Amino acid sequence: MITQRPGELQKKGLPAAFNQLTGQLFDNLPIAIYTCDKEGFITSFNHAAVELWGRTPEIGKDLWCGSLKIFQLNGDPLNPDNCPMARTLKEGVAIEGEEIIIQRPDGTRLNVQPFPVLTFNEAGELTGAVNTLIDVTEQRNSEGKQAMLAAIIESSEDAIVSKTLNGTITTWNNSAERVFGYTEQEAVGKHITLIIPKNRRQEEDEIIEKIRHGEKVEHYETYRLTKAGTEIPVSLTISPILNSKGEVIGASKIARDITRQKDAEESLQRYASNLETLNIVGKMISERLEVQDILQQVTDVTTQVTGAAFGAFFYNKFDEHGESYMLYTLSGAPREAFEKFGMPRNTAVFSPTFNGEGTVRVDDITKDPRYGKNSPHAGMPKGHLPVVSYLAVPVISKSGTVIGGLFYGHPEAGKFTSHHEVIIESVATQAAIALENAKLYEEIKKLNEKKDEFIGLASHELKTPVTSLSGYLQIINRRLPADDVNKGFIEKALSQINKLSDLISDLLDVSKIETGQLPFSFTSFDLAQLLHEVTEVMQYSTKTHRLVLNPGADKLMVTADKQRIEQVIINLLSNAVKYSPGADLVNISVSMADNKAVVAVQDFGLGISKEQQERIFTRFYRVEDMATHISGLGIGLFISKEIISRHKGRLWVESEQGNGSTFFFEIPLDQELT
Ligand code: ADP
Repeated sequence: MITQRPGELQKKGLPAAFNQLTGQLFDNLPIAIYTCDKEGFITSFNHAAVELWGRTPEIGKDLWCGSLKIFQLNGDPLNPDNCPMARTLKEGVAIEGEEIIIQRPDGTRLNVQPFPVLTFNEAGELTGAVNTLIDVTEQRNSEGKQAMLAAIIESSEDAIVSKTLNGTITTWNNSAERVFGYTEQEAVGKHITLIIPKNRRQEEDEIIEKIRHGEKVEHYETYRLTKAGTEIPVSLTISPILNSKGEVIGASKIARDITRQKDAEESLQRYASNLETLNIVGKMISERLEVQDILQQVTDVTTQVTGAAFGAFFYNKFDEHGESYMLYTLSGAPREAFEKFGMPRNTAVFSPTFNGEGTVRVDDITKDPRYGKNSPHAGMPKGHLPVVSYLAVPVISKSGTVIGGLFYGHPEAGKFTSHHEVIIESVATQAAIALENAKLYEEIKKLNEKKDEFIGLASHELKTPVTSLSGYLQIINRRLPADDVNKGFIEKALSQINKLSDLISDLLDVSKIETGQLPFSFTSFDLAQLLHEVTEVMQYSTKTHRLVLNPGADKLMVTADKQRIEQVIINLLSNAVKYSPGADLVNISVSMADNKAVVAVQDFGLGISKEQQERIFTRFYRVEDMATHISGLGIGLFISKEIISRHKGRLWVESEQGNGSTFFFEIPLDQELT
């Protein structure tokens, strides 16, 4: 667009040809240029100026500037009569490159550097001014961007480093200094191997190779070397730096220090594995009832978990010298390592543990004020296992008694952490419970043994007088004439004595079972026949029930202890009658399956609930509500079970409370006689 005809410029008194040429030049110049008369009215402007302003000013009307709105660099409006052009005209001096902001009618703003210069005619009189406007917007924008980028890089939490393709460090931000310890001055210009551990140098070659091919390396987890010589875990993201032609000229590297993340991961892993260990320990010690076992387990596992060189459990015992702590279990060191030094005593170091005051954890016990205060050793005896790191946790029972203490040692300082403390304390609590259970169990076991001893002794002592009583009564009976009225009484007495003798025999059997001395003698006999005989004899003395035998076989030869099997059948039959007071039938059957003889005794009586079914085979166990009105000792099924299992057989019950019971036993037809 020609904004002013050459003829007009001619008016300013320039040669026509020159005017025409400059007119064209003026209009086509890529730089905005315009003129004002001495009053400041715009007299001419070129195409680039119109582009810049975003509008066409009115010749002779617009003052000083073609832009309607102008601002100072800080964003404050700039009054047009104070703009550089106005000031040049008013003050008569040229103003060079004083940057302003102009606003186009569409609202866009541009950074502009005006260069207004006064113009004079040939006579030297002021005619106005010519202004060149340089658009510096892009430059400013990229400067701004760069400044922002630099600020971002400097304030980044990650170390950001750039390097040339041959590995020379070219930039180094604040975080790089913080992470690696080298200042910018120390690092820039050096080779990147400055921070690469020796054994990882080939990693760099591989990375550079990728970068050369324009590839990015993301989240590469490795280790880098700090100025202090420590290796730290980092996650690297390395991107190629391209020049304007798209060629790779270097690499930018973002290194994230993942020490904390790694630590967190590790501690999480440690925590999980410790938890697992604790679970295992908990389970193991709760399943064990042997004190020695429990404590050895606890000492072994906790020594391992804490990474201690050795661990020990000391019992808190009182003896004639007062407190004395007895080494009970040891892990990580041979027993001799402790034995020659005598047991720890109530010294300043040990007493907090045995007094139950709490855990003692010291990074270096030899520097602890409590250490070395007691004679004769004033510290660890010579030759003692070297203890620097020290951890001691009391094992306290529910009632508050200090059972003992768990002690751990390591020859290096600072080995035990608060985390270890928490774990050991929790194991100590579990161990205390397990130990109390074990103690209770031991006591019960002892009481039981006493009871067994008594039963064995009592039944043995009772057996002799009852046998002789029965003998004398039989003699009297035989001597009495057949029609003597007293004969009936004697027979009743004899029957009661037989019952008493059976009870005593049962008690003796129980005691023999406990001591593993129940004798067996195997013979071959017909089980069907035996059942027949027993049923007949029992029916003879049972008036309330019909005992019905349903033999599955006429003959069933077995190798077994006949007397003992008879004892089992009698027991099951008498129970069936005894525990079905409202019924009048007991079914007995015998059959053969899989080379086994199976006997079933079915009643229609009280039945047994599911949870009681397991227990009725244990000795002296009787179902509560029956025990009150049906007499018994609760040993018949216990003896029967033992007898059947000694025949490598099985005794079981199928029952429902209130609906009768069926007791079964099966024994192999042939016993391997051993
Ligand atoms: P006892 O009969 O001397 O009590 P046992 O060892 O023979 O001892 O039986 C144990 C317990 O099992 C009995 O006290 C009773 O509660 C229960 N029991 C045994 N047989 C039966 C049965 N046939 N029906 C219901 N309960 C039974």
